[in-house]
Amino acid sequence: MCTGPTRILILGGGFGGVYTALTLERLLRRDLRRGTVEIALVNRENYIVFQPMLPEVISGSIGLVDTISPIRRLCPNTNLYTRPIEKIDIQRKHILTAAGLGTRPCELEYDHLVIALGNVTNLADLPGLAEHALPFKYLGDALTLRNRVIQTLEEAAIEPDPQVRRALLTFVVAGGGFSGVEVVAELNDFVRAVARNFRHLNTNDIRVILVHAGELIFPELPRSLAEFAQRLLNKRGVEVRLRTRLAGATAEVALLEGGERIATRTLVSTVSSVPNPLVAALPVKKERGRIVVDGYLAVPDYLGVWAAGDCAFVVDGGSGKPCPPTAQHAIRQARSLAGNLVAALRGTAKTRFVFTARGKMASLGHRSAVAEILGVTVSGFLAWWLWRTIYLMKLPGLDRKIRVAADWTLDLILPPDIVQLAAERPRAIGWEHFEPNETIFREGDWGDSLYIIVEGEVEITRDVPGRGSLLLGRLGRGECFGELGLLRQMPRSATVRTLTRVNVLVMDRGAFQALFAHLPPLRLFFEQLIQLRTQ
Ligand SMILES: Cc1cc2nc3c(=O)[nH]c(=O)nc-3n(C[C@H](O)[C@H](O)[C@H](O)COP(=O)(O)OP(=O)(O)OC[C@H]3O[C@@H](n4cnc5c(N)ncnc54)[C@H](O)[C@@H]3O)c2cc1C
Repeated sequence: MCTGPTRILILGGGFGGVYTALTLERLLRRDLRRGTVEIALVNRENYIVFQPMLPEVISGSIGLVDTISPIRRLCPNTNLYTRPIEKIDIQRKHILTAAGLGTRPCELEYDHLVIALGNVTNLADLPGLAEHALPFKYLGDALTLRNRVIQTLEEAAIEPDPQVRRALLTFVVAGGGFSGVEVVAELNDFVRAVARNFRHLNTNDIRVILVHAGELIFPELPRSLAEFAQRLLNKRGVEVRLRTRLAGATAEVALLEGGERIATRTLVSTVSSVPNPLVAALPVKKERGRIVVDGYLAVPDYLGVWAAGDCAFVVDGGSGKPCPPTAQHAIRQARSLAGNLVAALRGTAKTRFVFTARGKMASLGHRSAVAEILGVTVSGFLAWWLWRTIYLMKLPGLDRKIRVAADWTLDLILPPDIVQLAAERPRAIGWEHFEPNETIFREGDWGDSLYIIVEGEVEITRDVPGRGSLLLGRLGRGECFGELGLLRQMPRSATVRTLTRVNVLVMDRGAFQALFAHLPPLRLFFEQLIQLRTQ
């Protein structure tokens, strides 16, 4: 129990968390003024992301920061802690956040806790996905994908090898649900529209592929709308691969179940979400990884703990069915939760959560969408107009509404932007995954990384004039390669191919040279290794 005002602590600044805070601010206005209640919200970012509009960031038809709204402005009477949450201790009623910029971790106590931490994208289940697939959930993901697409076009425009060029111009999106289809539609429109700006690019080489495990995309929508969407995507040049599952990825291919490999440098996975690790670690009852709540959004057996949004398993009081993980459900749950929390503070009657969604909509880019509203299905331009009007109204913050309306208006008359924002920090060390029989690097390539084998086996060969390919050796777990090219600043003197599935740690030139210069035992090790290998 906190000393001082009653503290309501909200975890997560998405739809669930922010709409809880907004409703509490309204319902507890007088208590907040008197200082008898305090609302605090902890979120990794200081803004809420309006995810339904995120795919439009890929094409730039909505400006990068216009899909987000600052939480401080939306909830002026809430104390915002912009920090990652490290631990939730519901026995001791406190949470721990990570440290900030030279500041300490912060422990926060609460009287009421609202958990609205959403889901996280799962890239861990399939080999190579964590290393090579791009997720699509946060603002940074949209920016990364936009940059990647522009970079592949830039590289394809100057790539002499037709096979590599085709791989650069192949874009694969996995998952035919709402986010996967919206992403593939925007990506396809964008690539085909801007390819004209790149001299020497043959637009016939562009392939945009949607991989979906089911019989039909959009399993959430009526069949007629899903079929309409599929036909439209096909017409615009998207290859829709149904009954096809992604099986893994490497830096150069998307692997499908059954063994097919699609050569690509851009794989987006919207396939599966898993519970937030903080939620997974809680000792509360869960269903499919989500926190089970009662009809009032309270967590049974833990007085003062509540949950809403994607991380909560909420059964709708009207239909008796579990709510799907959507923004409109998260918002309604948040409002209902806030009302019940205030009722608990005041000792008045709580209200059961009942909500029937009014409809579902998905944008297909290029002035087209599909929608089912109050049981009526609409597709094409009218659905697109409805989509834009409804989502513009729902976008939190008047300034954001004005910005997005201006973006959309300008988008009608101006060509799409093709600048690439260099926002990514260069990678010092990272992971890469390779399937059997893949080339990690070729003799003659420029040497810019050191590879340390974490798992698997590779073979090293060199072309000898008149004798063909000569096997120099095999390397396995714990061994490294690539040091010669790095240290001598020369092209690779051999080719490295995988014999099995291989996971490697890759260290870039800068990181390697810094270690080499300042760690004498390491320098000695590599000097001896190079001597041995060059003999
Ligand atoms: C591309 C895309 C398109 C979508 N389109 C639609 C649509 O058209 N219509 C619709 O209804 N729904 C749509 N959705 C689904 C909708 O966005 C989600 O259902 C909704 O965001 C759930 O809200 P939430 O508050 O539960 O979780 P989230 O919005 O995921 O919010 C969780 C918050 O918790 C924070 N958080 C998580 N872990 C930590 C931590 N350790 N420390 C600090 N903060 C943390 C996150 O940063 C985030 O701000 C879409 C989703 C995506 C990804």
